Amino acid sequence: MEMTEETKDAEPRLLKLKSKFSVPPPGRFIFIDPEDHFENTGNTFAVLVQKSVSHRKANGIVVPDNFPEIIEDWICRQIPASFIKDAPKNYDTVKRIILTPTVVQKATKAVLYGWRDGGRRFVDKDELDRRIGVCSKCPMNVDSSSCKSCNGMFAWIEEWFGKSDEDAKKTLRICRVSGILNLSHVYVPVKGLEIATAQHMIAKHPEHCWKRQLLDQTPEKKNADTT
Ligand code: SF4
Repeated sequence: MEMTEETKDAEPRLLKLKSKFSVPPPGRFIFIDPEDHFENTGNTFAVLVQKSVSHRKANGIVVPDNFPEIIEDWICRQIPASFIKDAPKNYDTVKRIILTPTVVQKATKAVLYGWRDGGRRFVDKDELDRRIGVCSKCPMNVDSSSCKSCNGMFAWIEEWFGKSDEDAKKTLRICRVSGILNLSHVYVPVKGLEIATAQHMIAKHPEHCWKRQLLDQTPEKKNADTT
């Protein structure tokens, strides 16, 4: 199992989920097997374990007796402490988040489709700068340890938008709440964001988040919004 020096020294025990029936972020159960970096997914924990075991057997990789516990521990090390049973004090999950390329691509694609279906419009420069400023100071603006560089994804977004902001590329990473590459949704007007954002996701963003503030607005305020 991949563990940081900190976790080896300070947290040798295997972490447990508060409930295996609550789906953790990003909305499904994911386990990237440290043996071969294969991404297993499941809508339930049981399905995830079953698929992860099958994958190992099919590839001749040893399946330890406590494999379900190992998977559970791995999941706990990627998600907010609020999902973990008896989470260690001051447990810093933000630094442990692993957003897989598949998750990031899927979440970002929804934004690009929202932009397209919302009329292919962009926010003005002031609003763009405001959003970039908020994201760049937000603790949820994180790097992905399974996707070392965002350059490939940035090029993909540029193909869609036909432009990008060089300064933004230096500071914007991935939104840990949604898995979206921040360089994408900062450009998108409210209409496109509404198309791309599930209602239940809005309140998961921190209160300082520009997106939460915009999507939490009343219909009257939205109509007045020029972005
Ligand atoms: S939570 Fe909001 S402000 Fe923070 S990174 Fe995500 S989109 Fe940006």
